Amino acid sequence: MTGSPRASSIVAVANRLPVQRTPDGWQLAPGGLVTALKPVMEARDGTWVGWDGGNRGAPGHLPSMRIGLRPIRLRPGAVEGFYHGFSNRTLWPLLHNAVERPVFDRGWWTQYQEVNGRFADAAVDALAHVDRPVLWVQDYHLMLVPELVRAVRPDERIGFFLHVPWPAPDIYARLPWRAEIVRGLLGADVVSFHTERYRKNFVRSCGRVLGAEVTARGGDLHLADGRVVRTTSAPISIDAAAIRSAVTSPSAGAELAELRDQFAGRTVLLGVDRLDYTKGIVERLLAFEALLERRKDLRGRVVLVQIAVPSRDDVQEYRDLRDTVERLIGRINGRFTPTGGDVPVHYLYRGLPPEQLYGYYALADALLVTPLIDGMNLVAKEFVVAQAATGGDGVLVLSEFTGAAEELREAVQCNPFDVDGLAGRIETALEVAAPSRRRALRTMARRIHRHDVHAWLDEQISAIEGPTTAAS
Ligand code: UDP
Repeated sequence: MTGSPRASSIVAVANRLPVQRTPDGWQLAPGGLVTALKPVMEARDGTWVGWDGGNRGAPGHLPSMRIGLRPIRLRPGAVEGFYHGFSNRTLWPLLHNAVERPVFDRGWWTQYQEVNGRFADAAVDALAHVDRPVLWVQDYHLMLVPELVRAVRPDERIGFFLHVPWPAPDIYARLPWRAEIVRGLLGADVVSFHTERYRKNFVRSCGRVLGAEVTARGGDLHLADGRVVRTTSAPISIDAAAIRSAVTSPSAGAELAELRDQFAGRTVLLGVDRLDYTKGIVERLLAFEALLERRKDLRGRVVLVQIAVPSRDDVQEYRDLRDTVERLIGRINGRFTPTGGDVPVHYLYRGLPPEQLYGYYALADALLVTPLIDGMNLVAKEFVVAQAATGGDGVLVLSEFTGAAEELREAVQCNPFDVDGLAGRIETALEVAAPSRRRALRTMARRIHRHDVHAWLDEQISAIEGPTTAAS
């Protein structure tokens, strides 16, 4: 994909702008997707529509970046209903298999509709200012935008990517506004998911809630008005080459040496997650406790480093989770810290900058990725690439309920709902012989490098452009 004069311009619509306010002014926000998109958007006269996050004065572009920015300002009441309410407490739990009970509130739904309308208006305006545009809408915050834009600009090329799972039809059908949401998505030409399972769940949900309005044929949904919507599965990935070069840099080497010193003589298990109830952190801690209970010989010889990135701490369910996690860690450390020795659980309640995080990836003997459900889980992919790049022999313990499990088949797979079983899987992981661990890492790393975030992006944009562009 290049910036050839015939290439389409991209208008991306996402909940947040790809910039953040820092003490040194506005800067590009960190993150693999933004970094990967930047050169593509710059080469294609890109525009990004997104909420300013409540920070006044978001610029129309950054001096360091040739991408137009269209900030959306929201009143506090709209943020409450649209973002904290409908997005985070209705859709997030619902789409994650209702592992927490979704809250249904008509006031939030009204705000969600209104704010989606604001995003759609800004997108329509942006589309009018560029040549041969494609519109690329991101994620569950904006599921009504494709239909709203289609109503005004019927011939536009529109794609939608969902970064979270799509649940089974019976779970989705609990949503009081289930028909409105899928109709919103069906305004797109292409609706994409991380995995085949989510894609099929979506197709079946459309049938269940829209009945004769849609007919599924292969991966296509035929609508009553004659339009055809393609559905695809396209697992998101990481900038594997960038991680490889960061993790093998001299400064990363120094960081790793310090960590090795700190944990010398102990087997290091690692957990890295936003503090979210979907991530299975409680189950992981209970499994670690069970392991220390039944394997006295491991006490003092194995340590769990849990990095928990603060998340949505204005939501009660998240505050409750933090309390539970911290109580449990206190209990485990109280029970198993040897006199005069170090604690078995090291707990960091903060996000680390990538260079530090990569040091932990390279250090760990095993990464425990145990979500109850997770759209993809990029941490698992980052760990594999970092380990392979540094010649490590770490093991990936990976929940079968993550999108990543479909690709990373050589991992030690686990069912985190079965806490005793999970303890057993961790034990098994620690017993895998070094040559098999290395072989598994190499195979998975090769696959991730082949299908990195750049390849994913290419696929996404080409799918939205469709055959008409290729022929033009
Ligand atoms: N991450 C980070 N610092 C941390 C922990 C995580 O920068 O201390 C990054 C990590 O590198 C990864 C992302 O946060 O790219 C988490 O993505 P993932 O898909 O695993 O989970 P999500 O938070 O999106 O549910």
